[in-house]
Amino acid sequence: MGPSSAPAVYCDVSIPAPLDRSFTYLLPETLRHRVQPGCRILVPFGKRTVAGVVLRTHAEAPPTSAREALKLLDEEPVLDAALLKLGHWIADYYCCPLGETLRAMTPLAGDIRHGKVYSLTSSGHDAARQFHLADNPESDPAYEILRLLDNRPLTSAYLAKKVPKSANVLRALIKKGLVEAEDRTAERKHRERAPSPQDPDLPTPFARPPHALNAHQQAAFDAIRTAIDAASFQAFLLEGITGSGKTEVYLNSIDAALARGKTALLLVPEIGLTPAVAGQFHHRFGEKVAILHSAFHDTERAQQWHRIRSGDARVVVATRSGVFAPLRDLGLIIVDEEHDQSYKQQETPRYHGRDVAVLRARDYNAVVVLGSATPSLETRFNAERGKYTRLELPERIERRPLPVVQIIDTRQEFLETRKQNTFSRALLDAIQARLDNGEQTMLLLNRRGFSSFIACRACGERVECGNCSVTMTYHRRDKRMLCHYCNTSTRVPDRCPKCQSEYIQFLGVGSERVEDELHTAFPRARIARLDRDTVRGKHDYENILSRFREGSYDILVGTQMIAKGHDIPNVTLVGIVNADVGLGLPDFRAAERTFQLLTQAAGRAGRGQTPGIVLLQTINPDHYAILCAAAQNYEMFYAKEIEFRRLMSYPPFSALANVVVRATKEEEALTRSAALGRILNPAPEGIRVLGPAPAAVARVMNEFRYQMLIKAVHRKRLSEILRDLRKFSQQENWNPTSLLIDVDPMTLL
Ligand code: ADP
Ligand code: ZN
Ligand code: ZN
Repeated sequence: MGPSSAPAVYCDVSIPAPLDRSFTYLLPETLRHRVQPGCRILVPFGKRTVAGVVLRTHAEAPPTSAREALKLLDEEPVLDAALLKLGHWIADYYCCPLGETLRAMTPLAGDIRHGKVYSLTSSGHDAARQFHLADNPESDPAYEILRLLDNRPLTSAYLAKKVPKSANVLRALIKKGLVEAEDRTAERKHRERAPSPQDPDLPTPFARPPHALNAHQQAAFDAIRTAIDAASFQAFLLEGITGSGKTEVYLNSIDAALARGKTALLLVPEIGLTPAVAGQFHHRFGEKVAILHSAFHDTERAQQWHRIRSGDARVVVATRSGVFAPLRDLGLIIVDEEHDQSYKQQETPRYHGRDVAVLRARDYNAVVVLGSATPSLETRFNAERGKYTRLELPERIERRPLPVVQIIDTRQEFLETRKQNTFSRALLDAIQARLDNGEQTMLLLNRRGFSSFIACRACGERVECGNCSVTMTYHRRDKRMLCHYCNTSTRVPDRCPKCQSEYIQFLGVGSERVEDELHTAFPRARIARLDRDTVRGKHDYENILSRFREGSYDILVGTQMIAKGHDIPNVTLVGIVNADVGLGLPDFRAAERTFQLLTQAAGRAGRGQTPGIVLLQTINPDHYAILCAAAQNYEMFYAKEIEFRRLMSYPPFSALANVVVRATKEEEALTRSAALGRILNPAPEGIRVLGPAPAAVARVMNEFRYQMLIKAVHRKRLSEILRDLRKFSQQENWNPTSLLIDVDPMTLL
């Protein structure tokens, strides 16, 4: 609206609901001159009051009388024109409602929802754990609240939506000293502070002075700087082996953007944004840095958001949703570990942060750098096609050698020892040698718990979750069986539930058991474990890692959490207990994920003065994902895997969507998915349909799931088809949550 035009009488508002249209509201006199597209506005919607985003203002009376808007929440748009455009693109590309997309892009709920923020006291965290051990607590609203708050502080509004009678329950929990409430206004002044770069007591041992770049780093940096100076869109793939010094290239590139008067955004994987990383950036860029982490609560996020918006913060380090940070004069976006799965959001809108980053850079004439030692097939293929410029860091810093990897065939080991040992003799010897020399060991087993399942020796029955079609995992510390899909836990049965036999077997090794067996094998070693069971509070992850880094432990056992990015010079041995976990999964990305995980894990060894070795135990010593990871040869893996994708028309050779129908009655899931299947039968030209068929895990949390995989030669065609399917579900009045569409899925499970 230009200043000379007549004041807007109406505004079209996008509502955060699974609907594909906007709604027109009448603007009260007082708002007419103030409302702009991209502002949030409170409006009545049915019986509720919701905060929507203004799409446009106008003077065209709608056919039916419009309700009146209630309150303007922003004096300035929270989404500028470019971000609004990005929101439209996401809704279109990922086939999700615009209103829900825009809500995900405006993490400012803290400013608008009134009420309190609730969090657990330390006895509250204990109680959550106790509850978790009790029989069938699921229907207990107190448990529900403890469980939700165990992850992060939440607002009353959020809890009210999730838990019936939450207000009463909360009052009772506060009385018992399990939950504490803080007022938003009070909270601003003295809340427990999440690690922000201004923290004086941040750990800084890793804040490192700028290094003089080596020749490869310099060449990569020169290319990026030239592009930044040209101020036009360009995309780079920075392919640098583990320990090649990618971070230093990022830091220099950010400097270059700042020097040009531009701002810069660095995206890191969920687990990668630790206080140590924040500290490093603070050390280099001082007060100019803002940190956005999904674990921050609303107020903290809102604060950082305003610092970015106002231009105080010119460098942003963020996890996935930070791709929407309101930076002005954006000159550079870096996506570190671009292959990481945490960039894909697993709820609506199911966007991929990396891909949105590339698009955003294009819209802003900015430069985007995607960095990885093991690029995703899509990204590497884009480099091959010339869409991205490929930059290589082929050597480790100071020409340190890559660790030597030795494959241990555990079938052979069994033939020779006649025992199903968790650790081969070679691995035990290597660990002992590290202990003798005061060097450190990391052991990877990408499966948590003690045993992965319990089976009856008499009849073969496996104990499954009552809500999901998966086996339950035995967690010894809790002496419980836990479902990793729905978190239900039950007692370990004394007898087989099917044939009453007493011969119950614990099968399949998990990280908890690896730790246990290590204690037996090396009674004097100091051992720590890093997995979802030991990382419960928000500081646990960093605490365990920094104690390991300081040398308080000799051995660190863990799941994929230990594989990511850590630079610990004294680690000279990495043991991969079972490289085969994940390889047999019915998912076309199984090989790629295994390769990435093993290569990243291997890359933790020998990053200091002493060279490292990696021992990789497997029953698939000839599988290309394992061979290539052992050789730490990405190019060899890429050549092989891209042929498989081409042959099978999987991405990047097709646009793929996973369409899942969910229902509490199996019958309904079946008939609904069959109805969708009929729409695509015969398959339209350029389209291939797999299914509908029961999903790999056919039942989760008591919902049956049928799945259809759609491969399309052309992206546009895929979008059209998905829109048709959604329209059909709306015409048939399905509950919006019963149709799940995942475009470019990262996992099919
Ligand atoms: P990557 O992320 O590629 O695995 P890092 O960025 O963690 O590697 O760098 C590995 C190590 O090398 C870090 O300790 C870093 O400080 C150091 N380093 C990076 N560049 C240089 C350089 N040019 N000279 C000396 N050391 C460097
Ligand atoms: Zn039995
Ligand atoms: Zn379950």
